[in-house]
Amino acid sequence: MWVMKVGGGCLRDADGIRLLPEVLRRAYPESSRLLVVSALGKTTNGLLAVAEASGRGDVSTARRQYEVVQAFHKEVVESLLPEASARALWARLEERYWAPLWQRAQALAHLSEEMGPATDAVLVYGELISSEIIRAFLAGQGIAVEWIDARRLLVTDGSYPDPAVLMGPSQANVDAQLVPLFRTHKLVITQGYIASDLRRRSVTLGREGSDYSAALFAQMLRAQGMIAWKDVGRLYSVDPRQYPDAQPLAELSYAQAAEMTYYGAQVLHPRTLKPLRDAKIPLYIRSYFEPTAEGSLIAERWVEPLPPIRAQRRGLTLIEVESVDLTPLPMAVFLHGLEQEGVETYFIQGGVRTAAFAVRGLQEAIERWRASLAESYQVQIRQPVILYTILYPDETSTIPNGEAIYFQRLPDRMHWLTYEG
Ligand code: ASP
Ligand code: MG
Repeated sequence: MWVMKVGGGCLRDADGIRLLPEVLRRAYPESSRLLVVSALGKTTNGLLAVAEASGRGDVSTARRQYEVVQAFHKEVVESLLPEASARALWARLEERYWAPLWQRAQALAHLSEEMGPATDAVLVYGELISSEIIRAFLAGQGIAVEWIDARRLLVTDGSYPDPAVLMGPSQANVDAQLVPLFRTHKLVITQGYIASDLRRRSVTLGREGSDYSAALFAQMLRAQGMIAWKDVGRLYSVDPRQYPDAQPLAELSYAQAAEMTYYGAQVLHPRTLKPLRDAKIPLYIRSYFEPTAEGSLIAERWVEPLPPIRAQRRGLTLIEVESVDLTPLPMAVFLHGLEQEGVETYFIQGGVRTAAFAVRGLQEAIERWRASLAESYQVQIRQPVILYTILYPDETSTIPNGEAIYFQRLPDRMHWLTYEG
């Protein structure tokens, strides 16, 4: 059993989808395979724009944005399929997905509850629609493929924005509903990124969450390996699209890869690695556009030496705490409080009188945390900031002069923070 994920960057248009049969031929065609797909291209951004406009009460902008997303998909369908099949598929998509999508989007205009979860109910359609289009295209190419709605498989606790996946119920669903499909089909397609909560409402696993879905499926199916087909089909020491000196990394350990994604390397969803490591499943990153090219492997073995790995995490909030009455700062209490509020801490600098944290979390959660502190602390919240990290620094690694508001130099890594923009 192999689990493969294909992201939106690969499925960016009809030509991208047309490469899929060749990619499938290149990767264990004799095995059972689960294909996990994302929404096409930038669809999730488009649907977010629909939801945001509707949430502001601007339904006409929402409608316009919705039509842009729809027109893009229509073009893809018409380009991929012969006329009659395209028409039949489009009618099905209209009824099953586009109509409810628009209904959910409109509902956001009159919402009294929290926006986030209700927005998720719109976003899930991107993946549902892409997986239907791909299923129809593959079937038209003579590739037998079964389809299943990932929301029937992955169950979460529904917390927002990073729901915890409930492994017990999810595994039971996988065993009862997914595994039997492989008795009649070698290839099954499902969606990344989407799941449900215990009340069967649609949720998402967080932006770029398809990698994470695929890893969960790999774990639950006890797969031999997972392949993430990417437009940048290897790991690099820094984003190669921005830095020409980026060095390819042939192999990393789970821990090394987790650390690099944690600090912002945009290669994988940060939660992807834990399920794979727990189940000791190797992850291959391969190039979708050059499926025979060498990729990268993430597995158990700790790899040394590695070149300096540079990453950045944008959009963090800087919290600065000062003790006003000379009480030493209880760092553990601060961190525990942030964690309780679901706020993630990426950078900590503590002293007796002042401390700084760079965190990611909901504004309300950070405010609640601030309100919970005793009056002996003065708190300043500033955002957004960027956290820069160099893992495995060498003699050439430096912190840029003058720009950093905070910096740290540790034996195995360097961090600094700057204001964003
Ligand atoms: N379509 C979702 C997103 O763009 C999930 C994914 O691509 O992995 O965030
Ligand atoms: Mg995507």
